[in-house]
Amino acid sequence: MIRTFAELDLDQNLIEAIEEMGFERPTQIQADAIPQALDGKDVLASAPTGTGKTAAFALPALQFLQDFPRKKAGPARVLILTPTRELAMQVADQTRALAKNTNLNVFTITGGVMYQDHADILATTQDIVVATPGRLMEYIEAERFDCRAIEWLILDEADRMLDMGFGPVVDRLSAECRWRKQTLLFSATLEGRGVEGFTEDLLKNPVKLEADPSRRERKKITQWYHRADTAAHKLDLLKAILTQAERTIIFVKTRERLAELRGHLESAQVVCAWIQGEMPQDRRNNAITRFRDGDVNVLIATDVAARGIDLPDVSHVINYDMPRTADVYLHRIGRTARAGKKGNAISLVEAHDQSMIERVMRYTKDEIKERYVQGLRPNTKKPVIKKKNKKKVKAAAATISKKQAALKKKKKKNK
Ligand code: ADP
Ligand code: MG
Repeated sequence: MIRTFAELDLDQNLIEAIEEMGFERPTQIQADAIPQALDGKDVLASAPTGTGKTAAFALPALQFLQDFPRKKAGPARVLILTPTRELAMQVADQTRALAKNTNLNVFTITGGVMYQDHADILATTQDIVVATPGRLMEYIEAERFDCRAIEWLILDEADRMLDMGFGPVVDRLSAECRWRKQTLLFSATLEGRGVEGFTEDLLKNPVKLEADPSRRERKKITQWYHRADTAAHKLDLLKAILTQAERTIIFVKTRERLAELRGHLESAQVVCAWIQGEMPQDRRNNAITRFRDGDVNVLIATDVAARGIDLPDVSHVINYDMPRTADVYLHRIGRTARAGKKGNAISLVEAHDQSMIERVMRYTKDEIKERYVQGLRPNTKKPVIKKKNKKKVKAAAATISKKQAALKKKKKKNK
């Protein structure tokens, strides 16, 4: 088992950059994926959010470019696709940081940037291009980008790309890059709709790597929940928690709920930023920047808005509304305790949410304990969630239909 970066076949200049970034040892997915990628294999990898997937593909890509240096100037050799512009920026930034002791360059091609700005970039030599699929396709169609030199195709956050409807565009891009040597696909989960079929056409005999979500990297999240008797009680609990928390993301289920909560927090003089789906890009970026720079320490988000965005490190994730599924719960809490740091995930649970929190415990195999805030203990009893016993349910159904049949007979007779 690989425990140190030195054990990976990486050049000294990359090791130095890694040290400067403060990474002490590879995360599990890095230790698993880097040797396989350097061995020339296609890779199909899944690991939870915040476990260092970016470096897991950026490092071997940089090593590859150094092992096989280009002979003459020309177009990009490594193409990284990401679902959103924000992610493209982040992946490019991290790749540049890792490449800082090399001569390799990294460009981005994303929506929201004028063609003009990219024009001179395209005339120069590129080593790595990070792009969003839609925008890149436009470039290819306008003959502003040449895929023929692509040797490595990397898909980041493949599950989200599919969710966002990029499947067909990615297939076309894959065809454009048909001379490539290797394909790497990274995703938070491989379970989502259609990921299986999608990967079949893209990857050749891939090595499948699944970093287990319940290991070291997720263990540092302390999870607990508070029960709330009423909506007002829940709001009081939230306010009490916020006085203790440092940097917090609060998740709500809809835009309406977000607006409501924003109003409540504003009247309580809690300064917050917020993001929701269907928000103009610049306003969304603005909110994220304010949060990232520490101008505000509370960010309210809907799941839709948070998708595809790598939010900065947070100390607390609060489920003000419980998520719809246990999977979404994991996505949400993955926003805290990134790569080795500690984090807290708190759920506020009303009576009707009790079954959900219990389902989350079964799904994650984590124990989530109930805690209390002084002066805000719930008055109601914890609802007992009965597991439906299939046999009993069936038996009950059978009795009912028998009774109904008997009743029908009776009615007939009486006529
Ligand atoms: P993912 O793509 O899996 O969600 P990222 O690649 O965005 O995760 O990494 C999350 C954070 O962890 C980043 O801030 C990154 O700099 C940091 N990180 C990555 N690898 C390591 C490591 N080996 N040790 C410490 N921190 C790391
Ligand atoms: Mg990532």
